[in-house]
Amino acid sequence: MADEFRDQLRARFAEHHPGPPPKGREARLEWQRAWCATAVDHDLAGPSWPREYGGLDLSFEEQVVYAEEAARARVPGVPGTGVGIAGPTIIRHGTAAQKARLLRPMLRADVIWAQGYSEPEAGSDLPALRTTALRDGDHYVVNGQKVWSSSADIADILFSLVRTGGPDSGRDGITYLLIDAHAPGVTVRPLRDMTGDSGFCEIFLDGVEVPVENRIGEENRGWDITRTSLGHERAAGALTQARFYDRIVRELAVLARERGRADDPIVRQRLAHFAGAQRVMSLNAARMIATIVQEGEPGPGSSTSRLFNTLFEQQLHEFAVDLLGPVGVLDRRDPHAVERGRWTRGFLRTRASTIGAGTAEIQRNTIAERVLGLPHDA
Ligand SMILES: Cc1cc2nc3c(=O)[nH]c(=O)nc-3n(C[C@H](O)[C@H](O)[C@H](O)COP(=O)(O)OP(=O)(O)OC[C@H]3O[C@@H](n4cnc5c(N)ncnc54)[C@H](O)[C@@H]3O)c2cc1C
Repeated sequence: MADEFRDQLRARFAEHHPGPPPKGREARLEWQRAWCATAVDHDLAGPSWPREYGGLDLSFEEQVVYAEEAARARVPGVPGTGVGIAGPTIIRHGTAAQKARLLRPMLRADVIWAQGYSEPEAGSDLPALRTTALRDGDHYVVNGQKVWSSSADIADILFSLVRTGGPDSGRDGITYLLIDAHAPGVTVRPLRDMTGDSGFCEIFLDGVEVPVENRIGEENRGWDITRTSLGHERAAGALTQARFYDRIVRELAVLARERGRADDPIVRQRLAHFAGAQRVMSLNAARMIATIVQEGEPGPGSSTSRLFNTLFEQQLHEFAVDLLGPVGVLDRRDPHAVERGRWTRGFLRTRASTIGAGTAEIQRNTIAERVLGLPHDA
């Protein structure tokens, strides 16, 4: 049965495949969006999403096969951060009208979503957020600043946390709002990271009017909803990521051979370590999907997976750059860079992995307190 499903999926990915990515950021985004629309229209998108919103509603086993085949076909994912984080949150906490209005366009990438949670003084301590939303009839008026919002420069909707309670209301005064990124009063400024790209942005919100119908859940109950969001953020793409690293570990072994290091026992031992760790990644991801299928939420175990995966990708790229020796410092602009500097770029990019979606320290706290049952951090 699983084999038949795999064969069908493989054939359909091949039939509708968008071809190789074009060069240039804008062309690549259009290529990605066109694929997302095609995928929904041909029943190839949203493995865990309900069918009525464009998804496939697959069983656990089928989701595993889907992740393997999507990675094999090398089809792009959905741009922005909505599908893995806001999507599951709306499926669980949204009204019927919100689900009907928002989910399918999100999956088709007709509308791109970005997350606006973090603020200059509220990252790990997210309940300290200060962006305010004051109710005025049938809308809220939002004022404040968000930061590190991935893909906000291409987003149409910012799924955000805002303060509707008093300044000291903590977790009990937070509301989940969907802000139109093109509304008057919204300013989005890309921030450059150390790879030279602008993957995230700062956002200024100045008297932005947001209709009450864009609130997910009740007023001041946003924190409980966010727990769904954060769990899914840590779980999002774990299986796809595991499949992706299956390929990367093989490519790393090829690199070791090409650099004449494949007989070095230390290099061999490290490669074996990464191959084993990649298997652990897959199993962690499968365990998390099983929890989502059974309980509707990935639960605190998503922190275990997230911590493991982020440390894995950092260590893998550190090793790759070591393997390259002095040319490991050259980036894609240098003609002597190996494979157009991809390993160097991965090394720089993965520095941020143990910060985004909760830092490694915060994941360790969650694992200690909510998985292992150790006493709370004072
Ligand atoms: C690549 C990337 C993408 C991101 N994308 C988004 C996005 O799309 N949307 C969004 O809203 N945010 C996003 N973020 C922001 C991210 O969620 C925050 O950077 C993160 O939560 C940490 O917050 P902070 O930067 O304010 O650091 P801080 O919270 O100020 O932490 C500083 C240091 O103190 C440590 N620390 C803090 N509290 C504790 C504690 N209780 N115990 C132990 N150590 C602690 C931290 O681990 C860290 O080392 C992204 C970040 C990155 C790097």
